[in-house]
Amino acid sequence: MFHINDNFCKLAESYLFSEVARRINAFKDAHPDAEIIRMGIGDVTKPLCPAVIAAMHDAVEEEADAASFHGYGPEQGYAFLREAIAENDYHLRGIDISADEIFVSDGAKSDTGNIGDILARGNRVAVTDPVYPVYVDTNVMGGRAGEKINGSWDRIIYLPVTAENGFVPALPSEVADVIYLCYPNNPTGTTLTRDQLKVWVDYALKHGSLILYDSAYEAFIREDDVPHSIYEIEGARKVAIEFRSFSKTAGFTGVRCAYTVVPKELKGYTADGKEISMHHLWNRRQCTKFNGASYVSQRGAAAIYTPEGKAQTREVVDYYLRNAEVLRKGLIEAGLEVFGGVNAPYVWIKTPDDMDSWRFFDMLLERCHVAGTPGSGFGPSGEGYIRLTAFNTYENTVEAVKRIGATRFD
Ligand code: PLP
Repeated sequence: MFHINDNFCKLAESYLFSEVARRINAFKDAHPDAEIIRMGIGDVTKPLCPAVIAAMHDAVEEEADAASFHGYGPEQGYAFLREAIAENDYHLRGIDISADEIFVSDGAKSDTGNIGDILARGNRVAVTDPVYPVYVDTNVMGGRAGEKINGSWDRIIYLPVTAENGFVPALPSEVADVIYLCYPNNPTGTTLTRDQLKVWVDYALKHGSLILYDSAYEAFIREDDVPHSIYEIEGARKVAIEFRSFSKTAGFTGVRCAYTVVPKELKGYTADGKEISMHHLWNRRQCTKFNGASYVSQRGAAAIYTPEGKAQTREVVDYYLRNAEVLRKGLIEAGLEVFGGVNAPYVWIKTPDDMDSWRFFDMLLERCHVAGTPGSGFGPSGEGYIRLTAFNTYENTVEAVKRIGATRFD
């Protein structure tokens, strides 16, 4: 008789977005004429930009001819893409990351989830709360989360980020071995300044902790004091792994391409205290379990770094940022307390009169025909908030704000 990984049985049955979809569908069945504006799920809506499309067409043509055909590529990604990333995302910003420290992949979701493969089960893991659910659920799968008691995992260290602390996580009282930070943040849409991020790098240096830094929304940063990479902070090469994705930068949610940076200085420790290169371990893991992102998607991703690709992707991100501003300003004018939405495609709204997240979700759906995501689905400290995304059209965003502004929530 074989046995399963029992940790999977600990996971909640209904993933947040399935419950959101269930409620929207039930409402639609009851009100078939209602025009629902979906501002829940964080998928992009704009097509790939012309430079990416052209590069992918060319790549498909190459695959059609035996002389230029590409089969298995390097597990770490093609040099043309790794070099473009190192040059544009790091060197041009004065950051020291070399092409061979970059591992191209099929997504930041897989990488942030898979990184647990190279980490011991006994590590104490800290997450900001609310949080992108992948970090928590993959640690449940890996046996690092403990048991769920009153909605929280007893081995996970929760770092609340709420209006009360200005969405800046405080250092934990117990030592965290592994710390997930996501900035610009999903779901709150907030950011840290360089000084605020430095506190975490210094903490990790002092305690021998590892920071898993997810900057999937880096392309949305517009303010000067917001770091684009954790490696802008001195010492970060010794303590941090950085995850980036082309999903939100350039509409690759369907194409799939992302990358993870593992600096050569980053060392982990064996149970008997021996130092091991994390770069070596991640490379070993990838070579064993991953055969690389497709040639076509990597050619598409490389086109983002051409002058046309840069201009075209920026225009799309600016479009979403304009939506975020419409949401933020409009909802503040409507009397709501609103956070995020400046360097991120998410706005995080305090529910009126402290009503719970699902109740406000239902109210927005029923009274405004606007679908968001309840904050409580992202963790205990998300209770009392709701997330709206800027990925809908400009027209729908304006309409959603108009509807919310014309509604009383009591
Ligand atoms: N990280 C964060 C914080 C996200 O919000 C998302 C997607 O919503 C991802 C990673 C997933 O990125 P990818 O599409 O590259 O898997």
